[in-house]
Amino acid sequence: MPASSAPVIEPPRLGEPWLLTPGPLTTSWAVKSAMLRDWGSWDDDFRAMTADLRARLLALLGPGGDSYDCVPMQGSGTFAVEAMLGTFVPRQARALVLANGAYGQRAAEALRVMGREPVVLDKGDYLPPRGAEVAAILARDPAISHVVAIHCETSSGILNPLEEIAETVAAAGRTLLVDSMSAFGAVPLDPATVPFEAMVSSANKCIEGVPGFGFVFAKKAALAAAKGVAHSLSLDVHAQWAAMEKTGQWRFTPPTHVVAAFLQALREHAAEDGVTGRGARYAANRDALVAGMRALGFETLLDDRWLSPIIVTFFQPADPAFAFPRFYAAMKARGFVIYPGKLTAVESFRLGCIGRIDTKVVGALLDAVAETLREMGVESAAPPASALAERARLGETVA
Ligand SMILES: *Cc1c(COP(=O)(O)O)cnc(C)c1O
Repeated sequence: MPASSAPVIEPPRLGEPWLLTPGPLTTSWAVKSAMLRDWGSWDDDFRAMTADLRARLLALLGPGGDSYDCVPMQGSGTFAVEAMLGTFVPRQARALVLANGAYGQRAAEALRVMGREPVVLDKGDYLPPRGAEVAAILARDPAISHVVAIHCETSSGILNPLEEIAETVAAAGRTLLVDSMSAFGAVPLDPATVPFEAMVSSANKCIEGVPGFGFVFAKKAALAAAKGVAHSLSLDVHAQWAAMEKTGQWRFTPPTHVVAAFLQALREHAAEDGVTGRGARYAANRDALVAGMRALGFETLLDDRWLSPIIVTFFQPADPAFAFPRFYAAMKARGFVIYPGKLTAVESFRLGCIGRIDTKVVGALLDAVAETLREMGVESAAPPASALAERARLGETVA
């Protein structure tokens, strides 16, 4: 990454802690400041902002994005996932959900709630769904028309093998829907290499905006064909798209200040050399974080090969002096908000690599971790044997 494109990171000006979390995350002062002005949602100025937002997002898809459009949807990321599933999985269709964590489970749950009972490949807490097993399920069940995949499963931090999955789904002549909430903007996702029908992400992840809306990318032909498919009035991507194409407006009150902040975040993303620069900064954060934590005696859940540049899961130390609530509070007192783990079998916690942070911030975080361990009287950060056994099992399964 050329040094000139890396942003200068300043500490949060109001003295708030750094957020080492997967979103909401630490944003720049300019992003926060962009929210100080009010906008009329009907006014031309705001319509121009919406058009700019859609065009800038589409450009991030890369050359394969020509036949796609981008539709912002109010709400948190889950609202956009639910809108995508409801709009592109027809009522009678059968979808296969590839789940290896909370977000895959949530996509399956959303389909159930809207009466589209899915088939679920459940890989547990963190094992990656692989092309061969997906191919076998699709061969066995010709009624499956859609496959739902999670790009980075934020519960464990695993970067799922999306290209392999996309190839399999395309070869079987089925349709791919992707939740790239926590990866889009930092991990390349060009439809030329990952042919998807629709994909979703949100404002408060790798683009480094504030929470308030998500956005769905979909093939224009699929958007046009999806009239009347949605189960919901407000979570209807086709209707939002049709209204935006016609009037330039969102159908219901848009999060105007969040959109203004997001446009500033997109300008900063572009100034950082887009997906390449953003991905390089996050990968450098991850590398510094993993090396530093390992030097302190911690171990990662995942093998290097599966570690995303988004968020990393670490095992909690076996040392009886370690207690997560105390660790969390002591880290917060030192200016760092961390994230609890989400594994069912072993105790863990997570540290994010995304947001307005760099390796200097990671260095300060590592110093805070070392001090906190000393303060707590933790002599070794090594995980319990059961955690290492779990990881060995993972290695055998994904080799
Ligand atoms: C953040 C995230 C979501 C959306 O979560 P919300 O809390 O609704 O914003 C969905 N999927 C993944 C993979 C995520 O990381």
